[in-house]
Formats: sequence, C-alpha cells, structure tokens
Amino acid sequence: MRRKLAAGNWKMNGLGADLAELERLAAAPAPAQTGRLICPPATLISRATLIAGDIAIGGQDCHAAQSGAHTGDISAEMLADCGASAVIVGHSERRADHGETDATIAAKAKAAWDEGLLAVICIGESLAQRDAGETLDLIAAQLAGSLPDNATGANTVVAYEPIWAIGTGLVPTLEQIAQAHDFIRETLTARFGGEGHAFRLLYGGSVKPDNAADIFSVANVDGALVGGASLKADDFQAIIDALDAA
Ligand code: PEP
Repeated sequence: MRRKLAAGNWKMNGLGADLAELERLAAAPAPAQTGRLICPPATLISRATLIAGDIAIGGQDCHAAQSGAHTGDISAEMLADCGASAVIVGHSERRADHGETDATIAAKAKAAWDEGLLAVICIGESLAQRDAGETLDLIAAQLAGSLPDNATGANTVVAYEPIWAIGTGLVPTLEQIAQAHDFIRETLTARFGGEGHAFRLLYGGSVKPDNAADIFSVANVDGALVGGASLKADDFQAIIDALDAA
C-alpha cells in the first residue's frame, strides 16, 4: 500500500509573511492516508520547519556535491541541516533554465539520499515531443537516466509533469495521464522488480481544486506535485482533501 503524497512547489515565490499559508495548512487536521510536503524557496526552509507540524519541508533543488566552490548553489547536506526531509530534483524548469541532464539529476538524487532526503525526481515531455509521438520514449529515457540503480520506493518519488501543462492551465486528458502513469509503473517494475510497485507516482501540471478529484481517480496516480495552487492554503487544502478521499 503506497502512502499518498500531496507535494507543493512554491518555486521562486514566498517571503516570510507567506509562511502564514503554511501555518494555516499545519493547523488543519492531518489527513488519514496522505503525506504532505511543502517545498518553499531555500530562504524559508528553516523558518518553515518551525511551524510545519507534521507537514514535511523540502528543497526545490540541490547540488550533487556536498560542499565546495559552487556559488549560489545549495547542497543536500545544507537542506538536511536546516530541517528539510526531501528535495525536488530535475524539475523541468531546472532542466530548461540550468541545462540539467538526466545524469546531473541522478547525481543529485544520490546526493539527496546520502543525506537521508527523499528525492522527488521529475520527468515529462514537451508539447513538441508529445505531438511527435515521443512521450513514452522520452519518459523511458528520463527514467533510465535520472533514477540511479539503487532507487527504492522509500528514497524516491517520481513526478510525471508534462512540461506543457505546468503553469498553463492545460491538463492532459485522464487517458493521457493513465497511459503515462501505467507506463512509468511498468518501466519501474521491469527494472526494479517488485520494488517498482513501491514508488509513489505523482502527477504535476495545473492541478487545481476543481480537477484534483478526477486526476486522483486515475490508477497509478498516488498524489500530485502542485505549483501555483500550493501557494494558497485553501486551494492546497482542497487538493489534499480530494487526494485523501480518492
Ligand atoms: C510545478 O511547478 O511542478 C507545477 C506542476 O506547477 P503548476 O501546478 O503551477 O502547473
């Protein structure tokens, strides 16, 4: 039985005052079957951990090295040191803005595990790749390249995020989500055997309160990685409630 996960990615949004949203989320009763994770900007992680209750706090990226001459970067050890328990790696915005490759992402996932952090590894196709019929091949390649061999359901979550659905209000059909998630599950079980069933698979891309229940009805969708709708406690709480009820 996989524990569901509602993960929020605040991206480069949020000042100290916005922690009030996290405080409101933390004041709600803990959902029975759903873990919650908020990934605020790195500047807020320490403060977030003080008010998060049993909501896990994560980073949005980490460097593959433990320390060194990497100006502006943050290591997994630093994230763990300030109370994070997870980190997103390979978000499409990092892949696009910072030229991250699957190999870079695999190295970051290993660095995260070394510090006891859960790695939320993101994959997903562009619209051009979907239109060219390359979605499943791309997913297979990203899974092969971004997930190190000793990935397990305990140290890794896979987030399927079609790039064209992120922040656009466009959402794949439920059939498209099902096809991708079933394919990811099959790929993971082919590679990791029975352990492949233990990985939680999140859908990400314009998840909102009004489409969450439909998305969570799809088999092999174990939760969501949510950007915009995680910034407001009411919206994210509605998504958590829909997931917990699914
Ligand atoms: C994301 O940032 O991973 C994301 C899915 O964003 P949004 O929910 O805003 O589409």
